[in-house]
Amino acid sequence: MPPPEAILVTLAALAGVYLVIQIVLPHLWKRGRIRRLREAVRGKLILTYDDGPWDGLTPELLGLLQERGVRASFFMLGEKVAAAPELARSVAQAGHEVGSHSYSHHHPWKSAPWTRLQDLARGHCALSAAGLESAGHRPPHGKLCADSAFWLGRARQQIRWWTQDSGDSRGPLDAAACLRSVRAAGGAVVLMHDGYAPGERHAYVLEVTAALLDLAQEQGWQVGGFELLKS
Ligand SMILES: [Zn+2]
Repeated sequence: MPPPEAILVTLAALAGVYLVIQIVLPHLWKRGRIRRLREAVRGKLILTYDDGPWDGLTPELLGLLQERGVRASFFMLGEKVAAAPELARSVAQAGHEVGSHSYSHHHPWKSAPWTRLQDLARGHCALSAAGLESAGHRPPHGKLCADSAFWLGRARQQIRWWTQDSGDSRGPLDAAACLRSVRAAGGAVVLMHDGYAPGERHAYVLEVTAALLDLAQEQGWQVGGFELLKS
């Protein structure tokens, strides 16, 4: 029987290897992908909305995008799609790209492997049940584990990162700062949310969307969802 210290050291080493494989390596891979994405989106504005659909904001947002004649990418939560399938379908019918954002937004790093994989699978099933096909996946909380990446690869789901956070879900609402960053970068994939957004955050999503569209027009950038990167 090995001494207890040897067992503890072995367990700690195994936990370390597990963390490196599940979290550290995917995180380094993500950083590399975002660096490449920053290059790919020069001269483009890609609008992305997570956590919806929500009838308190999504219809209004669709109206604004239609008015401006642009498309966007919507990464939906399965539980919201299951609760409002008609609304989810209206996004696709308006010509926007629809992708999955899991079912219940479990934090991948804080969930057991079976919980996060079930959350992924249920999110995709909810879209299918509503008659929608997921064009890509945005990891909840922007976090990824190796097992999730493997599952997404098998499901042929591209992982859709972003290069600029609009700041609509946390911190001060500062559209000017967001615009300065996007202008300096020469284009961006912007993260926004059309899920539950009370009060001023609701107005901010519409305000920052309109301001980004004005900036793109002024700069002569292409505007759309992730389909812009396919050409
Ligand atoms: Zn989210």
